[in-house]
Amino acid sequence: MEKEKILELFRSTGALQQGHFRLTSGLHSPEYFQCARVLQYPQYNEILCGEIFRHFHDWRVELVVAPAIGGIMVGQEVARQLRCRGVFAERESNEMSLRRGFEVKPGERVLVCEDVVTTGGSVLEVVNLVKERGGTVVGVASIVDRSKEPINFGAEFFPLLRMEVPVYQPDDCPLCRENIPIVKPGSRKVSDQQKA
Ligand SMILES: [Zn+2]
Repeated sequence: MEKEKILELFRSTGALQQGHFRLTSGLHSPEYFQCARVLQYPQYNEILCGEIFRHFHDWRVELVVAPAIGGIMVGQEVARQLRCRGVFAERESNEMSLRRGFEVKPGERVLVCEDVVTTGGSVLEVVNLVKERGGTVVGVASIVDRSKEPINFGAEFFPLLRMEVPVYQPDDCPLCRENIPIVKPGSRKVSDQQKA
């Protein structure tokens, strides 16, 4: 799938927005990306995860594991297309763990799926969790890779799209200098609630 077609899907669903944003980190950016906004359409999730399916379909994947929450929709759809089990890992006392009776069987071939990889921290935790249970991580897949440096997951990493996001320190932001009003993504809803 061409990069431009993926970006068009992101833009048309509001997953990718242009403007002047204050990110959760406090940094400013001309772009805001929320992957869930494109994945909420099952037909688009099917198309995007279809790329992951095509890449890994003959790797004999037996289990897909995704870090909650972002990875769940991706993991489930990839597992559906691969016709294998799909589970998710979630934080319990700050540690990624498999709950709900989810299992990794010894020797099982596992694909780890995430929506957006930024530092790769959650994915690495899931990779280690799978290995500790005797599973074999055959690959890692994500819709978007926003990492600054290449990450070594100890297995092939297949992101659909690499997206570099420009960020600025608040006191050194060209958008601030142009007096462009800044938006905190999602903040409108909060103020609506406060009014009510
Ligand atoms: Zn700014």
